[in-house]
Amino acid sequence: MAVFDLFIIGGGVNGCGIARDAVGRGLSVALAEQGDLAQGTSSASTKLFHGGLRYLEYFEFRLVREALEERETLLVAMPHISWPMRFVLPWRSDMRFEAETPTSKLLARLMPWMKGRRPAWLIRLGLFLYDTLGGRKILPATRTLDLARDPAGAPLQESFRHAFEYSDCWVQDSRLVALNARDAKERGAHILTQTRVVAARREGDLWRIDVSGPAGEETFSARALVNAGGPWVGEVIHDVTKIATREGVRLVRGSHIVTRRLYDHDRCYFFQGTDGRIIFAIPYEQDFTLIGTTDKDHHGAPSEARCTDEERDYLCDFASRYFKRPVTPEDVVWTYSGVRPLYDDGASSATAATRDYVLRFDRDGAPLLNIFGGKITTYRRLSEHAVDELCRELGAPRPAWTARVPLPGGNFPHDGVADLIAGLLRDYPFLDVRWATRLVRGYGTEAREILGEAKTEADLGRAFGATLTEAELRWLMTHEFAHGAVDVVWRRTKLGLHLSADEIAAIDAFMAEQRAANARATTA
Ligand SMILES: Cc1cc2nc3c(=O)[nH]c(=O)nc-3n(C[C@H](O)[C@H](O)[C@H](O)COP(=O)(O)OP(=O)(O)OC[C@H]3O[C@@H](n4cnc5c(N)ncnc54)[C@H](O)[C@@H]3O)c2cc1C
Repeated sequence: MAVFDLFIIGGGVNGCGIARDAVGRGLSVALAEQGDLAQGTSSASTKLFHGGLRYLEYFEFRLVREALEERETLLVAMPHISWPMRFVLPWRSDMRFEAETPTSKLLARLMPWMKGRRPAWLIRLGLFLYDTLGGRKILPATRTLDLARDPAGAPLQESFRHAFEYSDCWVQDSRLVALNARDAKERGAHILTQTRVVAARREGDLWRIDVSGPAGEETFSARALVNAGGPWVGEVIHDVTKIATREGVRLVRGSHIVTRRLYDHDRCYFFQGTDGRIIFAIPYEQDFTLIGTTDKDHHGAPSEARCTDEERDYLCDFASRYFKRPVTPEDVVWTYSGVRPLYDDGASSATAATRDYVLRFDRDGAPLLNIFGGKITTYRRLSEHAVDELCRELGAPRPAWTARVPLPGGNFPHDGVADLIAGLLRDYPFLDVRWATRLVRGYGTEAREILGEAKTEADLGRAFGATLTEAELRWLMTHEFAHGAVDVVWRRTKLGLHLSADEIAAIDAFMAEQRAANARATTA
């Protein structure tokens, strides 16, 4: 039986990022994901490539700098699924901030008369650091706004007269994961979805890994094991490898609400609360606004994370302290919730716990790497660090490479999206702007491979609603590991926001037929 260099548990952004990096350095790699790629935390994020302005309050300079440096590297490597965004941060001199952050404590000592408020110069200083810490070539710099005159002031309450506007980037998180997995597979990695790792044990110099998946029970062998189980990292250590460890994971739930579009412009808002938390309001999927997130210690199974009524009301109330028109539960059309697998650094609150990633090796025999924490933004750096270490462990050091290589469909200039859309509209006149935009934002240069020789919409096969066609569905099943309708309408795309339950059921039935036909073809 083949022995892999690496076996990775978990098909989230970190597992798939490590698989891609490692196989590109010549290691033989297998990855098992118990369900669909990105079904855990990696499809439930706020979807920002960001430095994390808030973490400056906690003096997390290393984390912020690494993430800021990374934004533009990622933007260039995936200009289809990631794009620059401007964030408007309304500011009023009477705003109060959480008292327990290191910044608050320092200010309380140096400027006790401020009583939890922040002077404008301090926010400007924070934004100056944010602009300069990580270097910045593509993204525009911070500026100040007069909200009485700028359109960004129109949806806000009149008491907000001033704001700062800064840059970060958007990313379609679950597409990021699927594209990493796809690239890893094309480079030779063995990617298994719907495959749960049930046990792993050391035998001599190897790991023996038992999995349960569509092919039944199988055992793999590998020289090193990577536990990229995200919020299940602790469960994998204790129940799969059965290793005793003192390392702890802190599960922190974050929920988002989605409403119909609350305002007309394309910028986001960064709102600050008196409880030390911040939330974003972000234009989402053309017709919607995304608002989040909460920060709650999570005690149940990670798969049971749901946005509670209390969290929904908290987000509505928080946003209503800024918007003129109150946001109510009746405005909410969808919610989602994810669990941050944070390294347990003993912080007092969920909000204060570090967002930095921690790589921990267990070298009591064949190496085991356990991964804690991390951000979507730092997944490539985390993967690079992890594979550097793994190459050293396996005695095969090879140089890092992922910073300069685009993800599938991302081989065009970072400001080339409008040209790609115009090209599709010219060559496929049956598309409209919304449809062409969706295809370019999902698949970049590969949109043309899906559309092929089509001259009319009918040439793309059955239409499932909201511009989803049989041609796209077949592409997602063949190239992006999509198994059922949920994978397609909530992860590879967000068309679930536009499709009815009957339409989703029809997609599911079609995919089941295709799977059955494929199985018959394989056994024939
Ligand atoms: C609310 C929220 C908002 C966030 N916003 C941002 C943001 O805007 N920007 C940012 O940079 N970061 C953000 N993050 C952080 C980021 O989403 C996470 O750090 C990242 O997605 C973690 O990825 P992961 O691969 O470690 O975990 P996951 O994505 O959860 O992947 C782990 C995978 O392991 C699989 N698995 C577990 N056990 C087994 C087993 N036994 N066998 C096989 N498979 C198994 C699971 O099914 C899962 O798919 C946010 C997080 C949350 C919760």
